[in-house]
Amino acid sequence: MTDLRHLPTGAEIRLCAAPQRLFVPLLRRGLPGALPCVQVGERVAAGELIGRRVHASGCDVPAPLGGRIEAVMERPALRAPWRSQPCVVVDCDPSAAEQPPFPAWPDWTQRTPQALRQRLRDSGAATLQRLANMPPADVLLLDASEPLDAAPRQGTLLRQRPQQVIDGARMLARALGATRIVLLTHAPVALVADQDIAIAELPAHWPRPGRRARETAALGAAASSQRIAHCPATAAHDAWRAVAQGRHASHRLIHVDGVPGAGLYEVALGTPISHLIEHAGGYPADARALLGGGLRDGLPLPHDDLPIDHDSRALTVLGGALPAANVESPCIRCGDCADACPEALRPWRLLEAVERHDIEALVAEALDDCVHCGACTSVCPSRIDLNARLAQGHEWLDEEVHQRLLADAARERHLARQARQLRVQEEQMAAQAVRKEAASASAVLAAIARAKARRENPDAAP
Ligand code: SF4
Ligand code: SF4
Repeated sequence: MTDLRHLPTGAEIRLCAAPQRLFVPLLRRGLPGALPCVQVGERVAAGELIGRRVHASGCDVPAPLGGRIEAVMERPALRAPWRSQPCVVVDCDPSAAEQPPFPAWPDWTQRTPQALRQRLRDSGAATLQRLANMPPADVLLLDASEPLDAAPRQGTLLRQRPQQVIDGARMLARALGATRIVLLTHAPVALVADQDIAIAELPAHWPRPGRRARETAALGAAASSQRIAHCPATAAHDAWRAVAQGRHASHRLIHVDGVPGAGLYEVALGTPISHLIEHAGGYPADARALLGGGLRDGLPLPHDDLPIDHDSRALTVLGGALPAANVESPCIRCGDCADACPEALRPWRLLEAVERHDIEALVAEALDDCVHCGACTSVCPSRIDLNARLAQGHEWLDEEVHQRLLADAARERHLARQARQLRVQEEQMAAQAVRKEAASASAVLAAIARAKARRENPDAAP
């Protein structure tokens, strides 16, 4: 049993009040999107599906709050405000009842790993979807580490809701067949004797150490021979919610900084940023910019009329004097960005691919592995905002995947229709042949009967 009670509890997690309207996005990074499955004017309960995945590897989209469907429309995306994304607009009704989509499983230890995997797939959380589709693992790495100065989401969640996070990790370990759980954290954590979770400490660092470095910090030399499943504390919490409570992952933990009520908020997906900022105390008088993200990795947002989406983690309001002009100059190929990248990417090569709009090169250079930590931007001597450019490339990749999947689905429907038409045609031809055969058999019988009648009565008229 893990004993986390002695730890400082950290900042409280506050629930953001329901906004008047939610703009729930149907697309999410790295996964095929969903199509709306509700009609304008329809009433939905919290937890009811409003978007259905177009592909088995995608996620369904539940209504985070109950209300009336007002529209399905394009809205700018928070992570790339220069692009729009399809959203379902819900006119929120605070009195609408919640409809948990699944039965709660307080007895989850009695459930099979297959049943747990299916529940994780249906949870609406992209990380859980990916974990549920993984092959079995030996170790579950419960990762509460964060880059230095990052919005403290994982650590605060672990301290505020330790039992839910730990239980969620146990559920995931059972689903994946993992026999060990290792908690990776920056803070010292004590265990009582009968613990079943090992703790590994990792000093906070900027940029965040890459995946392999974190595995080595957690497991030492054994890391190379183990099948390891990575799970952030937030995903473990979502797993607990889906399994123990039977609820979708329809809220995000967002750290808001630079406002009077700075801290961690639990926010319904689709909540407009303007509503969250207002709920957290509003803009200070000297506010001059809003970042989608933290101080180090945030992208400047053109306005706050954008919805919280599945990738949102933090918002930072900047105040005070403007910094010195940040004039961008051409890339000098110094390679500093590649040295800084925790995912061992070559950001300058990705930048070239984005400038050429070369989707194949973006895939070949593994843009999908970019976690948008912003380390490359912070070291670039040419002051190129690599993170923003790569985010734009990511959007193109998502759109490409979405379009290809839609095309695949259309092709499958076309082939199924052709097969159905062929089958109907064959059935019609077979029925026609049977009718013909029956008709010719009765004609033969009639001729035999006539011949017999003539033999028996030769004088009869023909
Ligand atoms: S750090 Fe900047 S200048 Fe250097 S290679 Fe990367 S993008 Fe180019
Ligand atoms: S933003 Fe992406 S490319 Fe840049 S350092 Fe971070 S992971 Fe690497």
